[in-house]
Amino acid sequence: EIDADFNLLDKHFISRHLIDRKPFSHKGTFGHALLVAGNKGKMGAAVLAARSCLRTGVGLLTTFIPEEALSIMQTAVPEAMVLVRGENPDLDKYNTLGIGPGLGTADDAVSLLKTMLEKYSQPVVLDADALNIISGNKQLLKQVPQGSVLTPHPKEFDRLFGESPNDFERLQKAIDASKEYPLIIILKGHYSLVAHNGKGWFNTTGNAGMATGGTGDVLTGIITSLLAQKYTPFIAACIGVYVHGMAGDLALAYQSEESLLPSDIIEALGTAFNQLR
Ligand code: AMP
Ligand code: MG
Repeated sequence: EIDADFNLLDKHFISRHLIDRKPFSHKGTFGHALLVAGNKGKMGAAVLAARSCLRTGVGLLTTFIPEEALSIMQTAVPEAMVLVRGENPDLDKYNTLGIGPGLGTADDAVSLLKTMLEKYSQPVVLDADALNIISGNKQLLKQVPQGSVLTPHPKEFDRLFGESPNDFERLQKAIDASKEYPLIIILKGHYSLVAHNGKGWFNTTGNAGMATGGTGDVLTGIITSLLAQKYTPFIAACIGVYVHGMAGDLALAYQSEESLLPSDIIEALGTAFNQLR
């Protein structure tokens, strides 16, 4: 249906791909996600990703976090289960993994990511420190499961794929990388680009109020949730960026661009999904 190299994501395309929740569905219908996130001083990233994941409709969520953060997660997100690092989760149980927000790049995080990429072969979401770790161990990029969604902001993108002289060349580089690797690459920013199979889709939602720490972690939770619900990775990426920006725009009904926080985006997800149906 679409054959230009660059396209726009519009509301109609997103609405058309939303799956309805059938009356007789149960939590098993909507998948179980494992969120590998958080470290000392960065538990907020894990909490934000967990809350957005739940608000996007996942059936079950388990977070895999440092032991000392157990009570933070259980208090801030009672709906999420917790496994603590050092435990050895049976990854086959999970429909997808979301890895990276607040993870850190120390040796423990590096070996955790390596183990996950060795043991898991379904599409995952990689963000933030998961991408930074791969940038320092480029051979890991070939181990990322086919169909996975990478969500770098421009600096993370440059670390992964090399620097670009300007924004346009970075967009082209993202398109090229999506030809070279069997991955969906979301180059985040204003008009985030979803790059897949050598083509690009620009998002049309979102605002400068979202230029604040933690909004990317919210996006990771959203896309992880959609993958767990068995949306195909490309559609999960498209719906994810669109709904994330739309929730950010809707939240401006009662916040300003100055005051907008990642939590406000999470709170507006309900209105966003309602308006898409
Ligand atoms: P991160 O840098 O990882 O926290 O991600 C920031 C998130 O906020 C991405 O999803 C961006 O697309 C979004 N974002 C940041 N600044 C803007 C902006 N000026 N307009 C629209 N979206 C933005
Ligand atoms: Mg980020």
